Amino acid sequence: MATVSIRDEATELLQELLRADTVNPPGNETIAAELLRAYLEGAGVEYELFARVPERANIVARLPGRGGPTLALISHTDTVRADPEEWTVDPWSGELRDGQIWGRGALDMKSQVAASAVAIAALARDGFVPAGDVIFVASADEEVGEDFGLSWLCEKHPDAIRADYCVNEGGGDRLLIGGRTAYLCGTAEKMSSPFLLRVHGRSGHASMPGIADNALVRAARLIERLAEYRPKTRVRPEAEAFLDLVGTSEPAELEPALRAIVEPMLSHSISPTMIEASKQRNVIPALCDVVCDCRLLPGETQEEAEAEIRAALGEDSYELIWLEGVGGTASPLGTPLWSAIESFVKAEEPEAVLAPFVLAGFTDSHFMREAFGTVCYGFFPMRAMDCEVAAALIHSADERIPVDDLELGTRFLMHVARTLGE
Ligand SMILES: [Zn+2]
Repeated sequence: MATVSIRDEATELLQELLRADTVNPPGNETIAAELLRAYLEGAGVEYELFARVPERANIVARLPGRGGPTLALISHTDTVRADPEEWTVDPWSGELRDGQIWGRGALDMKSQVAASAVAIAALARDGFVPAGDVIFVASADEEVGEDFGLSWLCEKHPDAIRADYCVNEGGGDRLLIGGRTAYLCGTAEKMSSPFLLRVHGRSGHASMPGIADNALVRAARLIERLAEYRPKTRVRPEAEAFLDLVGTSEPAELEPALRAIVEPMLSHSISPTMIEASKQRNVIPALCDVVCDCRLLPGETQEEAEAEIRAALGEDSYELIWLEGVGGTASPLGTPLWSAIESFVKAEEPEAVLAPFVLAGFTDSHFMREAFGTVCYGFFPMRAMDCEVAAALIHSADERIPVDDLELGTRFLMHVARTLGE
């Protein structure tokens, strides 16, 4: 093993993981957990498998520390589906071509699974004893979220995964902000908070529109108001730090790529996406249901948002029914984990800075924050691949990662494990 480099080791492990089809549904993450088990066993790392059902195992490994702050390196082993017709290579080939490793999950997120496993294995082989325990968690079921993965571990096996600090997916993009190179660090996530707009009218025969009150037509007016609606801006600490780097507090002045990062940080968002009214062509509907995707800022409540939305919609015959509220958690900035990540960035690129941002979507980080108050950041640095190229490949065809970035990510995780708590 001593002659194999971190780079080769991570490449080989990622290729093996990509060849294991863990498309969720159905998941079958146990095949990935078994690969990781064999790999960690070879490096002498202690591990345990936890599974709610046999075919959907999670694997947790631990490198014991000296009683200092614990660090979890978390990742998920499932992927979204892939249509081979759209791909240049077989999505489950793990092919190495032009210095890149190809396959479904190469970016989201078997690369970070492999990098985390190689990081903990390499540290173990070196005989390194970290300040606090370093915990490796490769969990199932992130993409669908039916409680086989991290949520289930938090509830049923909290002692196996509890940690003070955590590195997850959701950051590491490298871009230019106000003329400076910056790496994004995901420190907070919006809350997925869809609602139903149930619009009421009065039914009638469609041949006589005048005698009825068409709920679909009423809904159209309300949808129009939602489209024009500009939610109130709230400047959270992440946005403040980010806008400081940008040098303007006016998102409209930003170029599109930066605007796409800043806008979700400043307010909640609403997108009407589904509509249902009459079941019959000749019946004017008394009811029209409009489903709206809605993302709230961390810390913002549904009651606060509802008051604002109702004010924008005005008086009308509708109910606003919240369908769920998931995520919406934040970790503070300027923690020891922040410093550890920042010191890696500085060592790689002395001119570069670390910039916090709020993820518009959500990851498994909210489970760790909610269960244990863990300081969770999303960070996996990408330097060789342009972040806009990477963003377009995630959940899409020809997903791939440069070997250079896989190695960079592995070195990053080793750096954090060595630095935190020292
Ligand atoms: Zn992911």
